[in-house]
Amino acid sequence: MDRLVLATHNAGKVKEFETLLAGLTVQVESAADHNLFEPEETRTTFEENALIKARAACAATGLPSLADDSGLAVEALGGAPGIYSARWAGPEKDFGHAMQRIHDELNGDVEGQKAAFVAVLALVFPDGREEIFEGRVEGTLTWPARGDKGFGYDPIFVPGGYDISFAQMDPAEKNALSHRSKAVKQFTTFLTTEAQRHGVF
Ligand code: IMP
Repeated sequence: MDRLVLATHNAGKVKEFETLLAGLTVQVESAADHNLFEPEETRTTFEENALIKARAACAATGLPSLADDSGLAVEALGGAPGIYSARWAGPEKDFGHAMQRIHDELNGDVEGQKAAFVAVLALVFPDGREEIFEGRVEGTLTWPARGDKGFGYDPIFVPGGYDISFAQMDPAEKNALSHRSKAVKQFTTFLTTEAQRHGVF
């Protein structure tokens, strides 16, 4: 494998992936490079939705494709918004609105609630082979929202062992512990192992 399509349309995620995948010898090409359309996420798990996106990108390009599905799972809300994390922000992608919905569904009892960010990566090869990598970071919610870095729900998520939100961290600090970086580490370990097994991609 010397080329890889990164099938995500979310600008915040693309930026983080660029940094996380920077050390790879494979050439990473974006959804935009290939004019990929965004398939509808019709399934009920992160894994299945990531697979839908990776399979669609692979079918359209004929290249190995990597897609992620991720979100915030709030324990007291039974794991919501979960796979609906992007959709809670509405068509305007208004995360102020989405964070307010979490606040309202918790009846204002936000501070200290257990939550986790989850990222699942699906890698699909043209020969039909599929691999899944999952990363998770546990933490708590905070209210009001704090910080202006990052994206999405970052301003209300405080990772375990820290007293600042993801949105108050420098990108490098967030990337060192995020759900996405954990999933990407598994992916890069897989690539290295494969490279050793087959000589070279
Ligand atoms: P999807 O994976 O494109 O369906 O969207 C996942 C959604 O989860 C994003 O739009 C964000 O709202 C949220 N999300 C995923 N990862 C992060 C993160 O690192 N910080 C903040 N929000 C995130």
